[in-house]
Amino acid sequence: MRVGVIALLHESNTFVSQPTTLRHFEEELLVTGDAVRTRLAEAHHEVGGFFQGLQEAKIQAVPVFAARATPFGAIESVAYSRLLEILFAALEDAGALDGILVAPHGATVSEEVLDADGHWLSLLRERVGAETPILGTLDPHANLSPAMLAATNALIAYRTNPHLDQRECGVQAAQLMARTLHGEVWPVQAAATPPMAIDIERQCTGEFPCRPLYDIADRMLDLPGVLSNSIVLGFPYADVPEMGSAALVVTDDNAPLAQRLANELGEYLWRHRWEFIGEHLDIETAVNRAVLGSKALQVAEESVRYCLLDMGDNVGGGSPGDGTALAHALHKLQHVNSFICLYDPQAVQRVEAACVGDSFPMQVGGKTDDLHGKPLEARFTVLGVYGGRFRETQPRHGGWTEFDMGRTAVVRSDNGLTVMLTSRRVAPFSLEQLRCCNLDPTRFHILVAKGVNAPIAAYRDVCDHFLRVNTPGVTTADMTRLPFQYRRRPMFPFEK
Ligand SMILES: [Zn+2]
Repeated sequence: MRVGVIALLHESNTFVSQPTTLRHFEEELLVTGDAVRTRLAEAHHEVGGFFQGLQEAKIQAVPVFAARATPFGAIESVAYSRLLEILFAALEDAGALDGILVAPHGATVSEEVLDADGHWLSLLRERVGAETPILGTLDPHANLSPAMLAATNALIAYRTNPHLDQRECGVQAAQLMARTLHGEVWPVQAAATPPMAIDIERQCTGEFPCRPLYDIADRMLDLPGVLSNSIVLGFPYADVPEMGSAALVVTDDNAPLAQRLANELGEYLWRHRWEFIGEHLDIETAVNRAVLGSKALQVAEESVRYCLLDMGDNVGGGSPGDGTALAHALHKLQHVNSFICLYDPQAVQRVEAACVGDSFPMQVGGKTDDLHGKPLEARFTVLGVYGGRFRETQPRHGGWTEFDMGRTAVVRSDNGLTVMLTSRRVAPFSLEQLRCCNLDPTRFHILVAKGVNAPIAAYRDVCDHFLRVNTPGVTTADMTRLPFQYRRRPMFPFEK
């Protein structure tokens, strides 16, 4: 038996003013055929899990297509059309398939098609017919749509955020495919979509209020006939009709049971909706807390490190990565050894023209738009310029192994703020990002990570405390401040 493998992964933030282009995919991942296996088979990623699960079940994996770009604006229409052309040409080349394993992200938006995942999965269903099982995975930051459900037999979301079970989730989908093809089960799925969205700050699966919900979902897996279930946390930064949180249950050919159990989970979400509103800690309070906390323990000669999570400039949620709100606040402090990474290709060029040890005034960050703070102007000393490539071998959020920041400069302000300047936007999912530029993360007392939950998987190795900070930007903690046009109404927490 032959099972095709297809992945199209993009988390699209429709509030970002610039689109995601084909170049963004080409720079990161856009491959067909055997190259899919070469790039992903060993990764802590669901596609790696597909290959593993199929191999264990002695089913031939047929790699077809894989594309991924760092979260950013909606995908440009022409780029989306081109991706589909490449995908379906590769599917044609793959020959006859008994089943297809798919890895949509679930929050992909093109400029033309708001529900891009539902759209390409429907085209795939049309192409292969109703008899061929299409099973796959979802990022829990998906906005689940009726079209995604109709086009697939079963979707399984990762169970962790930060996402550390991506590979296991892929293995699970492949095992379900094997059982389906052997005629042991016939998966059917149903969802509940209560009119609510979970605050991104409350989406850490190991913490309250997510934990009790996942415990209920875990227990449900023991019921007879249940093949899988998923909590779809949702991605509040996509202005689409299906934006929101959902529950999804897959059973063995028992649609009423799937619907009843999905409704139970959906009703839990709805009853507990007030618990899923975030704290929204302001910048001043967060920075003061970090300074006082790290100083108090330094007196006791204990080294303690704080991580400030820059919610408004969350690179993994589509933000530009050059937000300066926390850079300004940290620069105002005296003698606090702190770190921030900013996407700023212009500043990198400026530093490359100088020598290590040179010191000069420069503006860094705040250049993409006027939503993420003004550039920070200060006197900086050049510490070094680097190639910016690094490799992460541990399971980290996103399941990615190879990273490329482009030419990367490290400078330090007179006040003790170390700034890493990159030529490409890279989310802070690995401490190798610092180490590849000769920076020891344990040298800092306060480190900024531009994310909400995802960076914790890497940063908890060196940070004792995490503070999620309500900074301005297109991934603002407070979703009710975003200018939605297409979301459902009424919807919690927008309409209380
Ligand atoms: Zn995610």
